[in-house]
Amino acid sequence: MTEIYDLIILGAGPAGVSAAIYASRAMLKTLWIDNKCMTGGQITDTYEVDNYPGMPGVSGMDLGEAFGEHAMKLGISPACENVLSIKEEGGEKVIYTEKNEYRTKAVILALGASHRKLSIPGEETFSGSGVSYCATCDGAFFRNKTVIVIGGGNVACEDAILLSRMCEKVYLVHRRDALRADKILQERLFACSNVEMVWNGEPVEVKGDERVTGLLVRNKETGEERMLAAEGIFIAVGTIPNTWLVKDLVETDDRGYIVAGEEGITSAPGIFVAGDARTKMLRQVVTAVSDGANAVAAVQEYLLHI
Ligand code: NAP
Repeated sequence: MTEIYDLIILGAGPAGVSAAIYASRAMLKTLWIDNKCMTGGQITDTYEVDNYPGMPGVSGMDLGEAFGEHAMKLGISPACENVLSIKEEGGEKVIYTEKNEYRTKAVILALGASHRKLSIPGEETFSGSGVSYCATCDGAFFRNKTVIVIGGGNVACEDAILLSRMCEKVYLVHRRDALRADKILQERLFACSNVEMVWNGEPVEVKGDERVTGLLVRNKETGEERMLAAEGIFIAVGTIPNTWLVKDLVETDDRGYIVAGEEGITSAPGIFVAGDARTKMLRQVVTAVSDGANAVAAVQEYLLHI
């Protein structure tokens, strides 16, 4: 007879790890799946996490590893599989991966989010040839060179600060005249002498031959265009939720986030959401971790009543 899990957790970012830890301690019959086969999710692309309590200045990679080790100590690790679809069948949820088919009473979607693209000419052509979405991963390739960071949020600021330590010059191109990043990051950024702010800058086209040579930027106030010469372009314009897999299964908002409160209860009975894929005010490691724990509590409650 086919095995039926109490719970399948999809995703091994902070929300998925936390859900796995709580599910393990609750002794639920749990399967945990992640397509990247590693714990930490988006934080593994982050140079430094400085606001997770008790771990000031920890590197994203170290925090991701510590999360995984904690889960492993409790006897749970993510299976490395790519989920292709999820279906409802007679009250059970069926998860189809490239290799297997799994049945479960409940699912926690901890699917996280991915880098948003600018969708301007040259972006895709030069992706991997000077265009990057991860300064922590690729910054070292641009040592002593000039680079451009695009965006005005925490990630853009952190990237620009990190790159300023290894690059000759950093342009930070932002489409408005004020950053949305935390004030403490703005202060650190403005103290970097080799960072030049390009305010009201709308990225128009990534220029290059075999590799990136620069970015054409239009000033939104004056309409004037300026060519910024650089060898690397780091795009940090936010994230989009990884929810395409479930868009026909649960209610999502107009930006694709799964509609749910802090218990993670979605419009579909037995399907729960935790972390960045959920509608919420603040997408941080600390709120993702909290979501994972809450979602498991909601799953336990659900399992009592089916
Ligand atoms: P974000 O906060 O959503 O910022 C995205 C930035 O990109 C905004 O400044 C936005 O401009 C700009 N942008 C969006 N679309 C654009 C476009 N088409 N063209 C040009 N610019 C565009 O995203 P994020 O910095 O990636 O951060 C994602 C989440 O992770 C946030 O919730 C953030 O707080 C969190 N985070 C937390 C930490 C931490 O706590 N240590 C570190 C990193 C990230 P506007 O400002 O004009 O909208």
